[in-house]
Amino acid sequence: MVCKSCENDHQENYCPECGEKAFNIKQLSLKHFIEETFEGFIHFDNKLFRTIKILITKPGQLSLDHTEGRRVKYMKPVQLFLVVNLIFFFLTASNIFSLRLQNYISYKPFTNYNTRQLVKHKLAKSQLSLAEYEQLFNEKMTSNSKEFIFIFIPFYGLVFFLLFFWRKRFFTEHLVFAVHFTTFILILVLVEFYVLSLPFNLIFRKDYSQSFDNFYAIFTTICISVYLFFAMRKFYKANIYWTIITAVATGYYFFTFIQYYRMLLFFKILYLN
Ligand SMILES: [Zn+2]
Repeated sequence: MVCKSCENDHQENYCPECGEKAFNIKQLSLKHFIEETFEGFIHFDNKLFRTIKILITKPGQLSLDHTEGRRVKYMKPVQLFLVVNLIFFFLTASNIFSLRLQNYISYKPFTNYNTRQLVKHKLAKSQLSLAEYEQLFNEKMTSNSKEFIFIFIPFYGLVFFLLFFWRKRFFTEHLVFAVHFTTFILILVLVEFYVLSLPFNLIFRKDYSQSFDNFYAIFTTICISVYLFFAMRKFYKANIYWTIITAVATGYYFFTFIQYYRMLLFFKILYLN
């Protein structure tokens, strides 16, 4: 039979040249059309859940499979990140990536950046009251904080490259590992939102407290370090001591990076919006 797309002669169900499915007039039936449409959704779902399941239960396995060529069963790394980021976008109201204006001007370490003075200047310039500006700011923060999470990917790609460049891997391999790591963080934060933050908000009727933030930070740091330890062992196959040091250090600095991210968003919203 002759491929409809590239005119290659072949006997298989799918063209070995271009991947086109062998054509049959029955594929034009309405029944087939409907089946094919829903099959697409169901496969997408299966793939998504399978990929997320492996990501959580077998740290490092997805990155290893992708870089060693076992790809067909899973969603592509960046595709997976985008879908999870989208789910994250809709399912969380507040999250660790964002803060309300009130918190920026009330608590350390944010006030160390002169946030109170800067907001005062902004109010004077824009002729808005604090309450008016606060509403604007918080709305922007909610959406911006989720839209810019992707910058963690190149950042962590570089971090993993610096920690493991001696393993002589392609930069893309570090990047794939970084995509999966960032996706894991999103899922962790999403779960924490429903298990920790939301109950805290409902019980204490506050949306920020320094001691809760500290507890949350320690808990998250432990989760990330443990996850990274297993993921790095599997993916980079480095010796156990180096893996412990790098996993704990990356977990430890995670919240430092989050604070910088929060400050970056603060300045972005204050000056670029
Ligand atoms: Zn073909």
